[in-house]
Amino acid sequence: MSIIIDCHGHYTTAPKQLEEWRNRQVAGIKDPSQMPKLSELKIADDDIRESIVNNQLRLMKERGNDMTLFSPRASFMAHHIGDFEVSSTWAAICNELCHRVAQLFPEHFVPVAMLPQSPGVDPRTCIPEMEKCIRDYGAVGINLNPDPSGGHWKEPPLTDKWWYPIYEKMVEHDVPAMIHVSTSCNACFHTTGAHYINADTTAFMQLIQGDLFKDFPTLRFIVPHGGGAVPYHWGRYRGLAQEMKKPLLDTHVMNNVFFDTCVYHQPGIDLLNTVIPVKNVLFASEMIGAVRGIDPTTGNYYDDTKRYIDASTILTPEDKHAIFEANTRRVFPRLDTLLKKRGK
Ligand SMILES: [Zn+2]
Repeated sequence: MSIIIDCHGHYTTAPKQLEEWRNRQVAGIKDPSQMPKLSELKIADDDIRESIVNNQLRLMKERGNDMTLFSPRASFMAHHIGDFEVSSTWAAICNELCHRVAQLFPEHFVPVAMLPQSPGVDPRTCIPEMEKCIRDYGAVGINLNPDPSGGHWKEPPLTDKWWYPIYEKMVEHDVPAMIHVSTSCNACFHTTGAHYINADTTAFMQLIQGDLFKDFPTLRFIVPHGGGAVPYHWGRYRGLAQEMKKPLLDTHVMNNVFFDTCVYHQPGIDLLNTVIPVKNVLFASEMIGAVRGIDPTTGNYYDDTKRYIDASTILTPEDKHAIFEANTRRVFPRLDTLLKKRGK
């Protein structure tokens, strides 16, 4: 029996006090007299318990998902708001809350950290928060936002040396990053319908154009949401790499890049698993997230992605074990260590 590990969950159901405090923080950017103190945010353990037991944990139990790698709500990271100081305080609060969830439900949640990114600010500034989360909170991975501007793409590509200080720390601590944007403040891009999928696709193409993994052979990225448009257009990406005189994608990027299964219908999951090698696919649902409804054609929740893997006729039982558990333990070695300590 596999441990069913969902590598992509966010604390989208955090108690209301969090959002209220954030609204005051945002108001405080314009009017410093309104800036709330950290001590004014009060969230009791019972509030956290209630927010998890009735939501994520309930659905995990219904669907047979054992464990979720749990990070702060992605659309709320909103790195474009305020300056580094604002992002820094906000990231510290959100990361601590995910740590508390993991402490209250250690069997079911393991933290993944958000970074206090801010547009135009050297990513090196994120390292203290990142290391605190790994060291003190047991975070097994990070979420890295390739576009802290929120849909205006002002930072250099992910292959630029601008980002190297983060990569050096990822390698040092053996943690992967999920490439994950936040809310879009560009009206052209719907946050979860366009900006997220654009960013997944954009990140993958950046990695093809560069030679990042020559400099960091052990660096690992998860491109979420099934890899955006990439699996569907796999022939295009192979062909472009060829024209750019890059090595075959197998060696150029696919030792370092992984796609999750946040694809909300059976034909999409089947396409993913037809095109992308099993070793590069990690189970995930991003529940409770962008798409919360029930598919009228199946009667099931769109984001109940375990169902699609279970029903796959393309994957063998060994493949399914790799996707549900083994690949994730390989990509997140700190998770593997934690599970081994627990005798799993
Ligand atoms: Zn997400």
